[in-house]
Amino acid sequence: MCGIIGYIGPNKNTQIGIEMLKRLEYRGYDSAGMACIANNNKIKSCKAVGRISELEKKLSGNPQGSPFIFHTRWATHGAPTVKNAHPHTDDKKEFYVVHNGIIENYREIREFLKKKGHKFTTDTDTEVLPHLISYFFKGSLLDAVQKALNKVEGTYGIAVISSKSPNE
Ligand code: GLU
Repeated sequence: MCGIIGYIGPNKNTQIGIEMLKRLEYRGYDSAGMACIANNNKIKSCKAVGRISELEKKLSGNPQGSPFIFHTRWATHGAPTVKNAHPHTDDKKEFYVVHNGIIENYREIREFLKKKGHKFTTDTDTEVLPHLISYFFKGSLLDAVQKALNKVEGTYGIAVISSKSPNE
């Protein structure tokens, strides 16, 4: 069981995300990661294998920004490595997703998207989500997420941020 966190508001200190993750530590995890909308609506991301304190060390007060998403992972698909740690993103790195659960039909979605030119870089089921959201994005993040989730079979709690819609 992993933990997911999403925050939107005036606080840009992502240290709060670390404190929130620590409250979910009891659920168990093998790696952790985060992404936030930083200056100029650029997305910054950071991931680490092992304890939350490893992510905390790597972050060391930076990057700052809001909204932000955080994740602790309990690997189901793909080894517990930095590459496979969440958040996952699309080819253009415009959409970042943290996910709790399993996408059962990820192979079929991945094959479909590969034919459309998408390139996958991890071993996870989760990576299809940011690619699908990117595939469906036509201006509304909510609409793209809803369309993506309509294609997905499995279990999921997700949090999403996007440079295309930095206030959501
Ligand atoms: N299935 C996803 C993965 O292996 C998410 C696992 C979780 O819920 O932590 O990356």
